[in-house]
Amino acid sequence: MVEKVYVTYNQVHKLCQASAPRILADFKPNLMIAIGGGGYVPARILRSFLKQPGSANIPIQAIGLSLYESLGTDTQVEEPGTKVTRTQWLDLGSLEMANLIGKNVLIVDEVDDTRTTLEYAVKELEKDVAVAAKEAGRKEETQFSIFVLHNKDKPKKGHLPKEMTDDNRYLAAVTVGDVWINYPWEATDIEEHDRMAAQQSAK
Ligand code: 5GP
Repeated sequence: MVEKVYVTYNQVHKLCQASAPRILADFKPNLMIAIGGGGYVPARILRSFLKQPGSANIPIQAIGLSLYESLGTDTQVEEPGTKVTRTQWLDLGSLEMANLIGKNVLIVDEVDDTRTTLEYAVKELEKDVAVAAKEAGRKEETQFSIFVLHNKDKPKKGHLPKEMTDDNRYLAAVTVGDVWINYPWEATDIEEHDRMAAQQSAK
């Protein structure tokens, strides 16, 4: 059976706090895009630690992605395998999309498992921003970086752009094995969740 790891709100808070200096120094984000639902809470906590005296809070935009298993029976349309579908996105031509042009954008999610979701998010956001910039006749470079609470150390199905890896624009607060992580926002009984987390850390 896959090992389960219980993570508490306080641990999430501290992981964001510990990661903030590196994010501020290296990624210098002007804007965050939280991948829902797991990226919302970390993005909100991180925002408090990224706040600089005299500057405004960093805005957070939300996108929603979900994974599905395609059997590839309709071979005209797609190959079999894990696919990503958008449940929420930024409208092309919208103010939110135009707002990304020329910015340092930090994509936030809770966990990098197979990397399918992150690959999709980076690729599609880069593509859409390029279209929006072209339409607006703007040439500033938009730079994406990634923050996740946990990266699972395992072979990845998804890949990030080479420039992103080369520039080191990826940060995982913690690298774990191929375990299943229970996040506090998924818990229906938070006291029990915290008890399980405490039991684990006492081992
Ligand atoms: P991916 O395989 O694309 O990297 O991750 C897809 C999504 O699966 C994640 O955004 C997350 O919602 C979910 N997921 C993957 N591994 C875990 C895990 O260990 N715990 C929880 N709670 N969700 C996970």
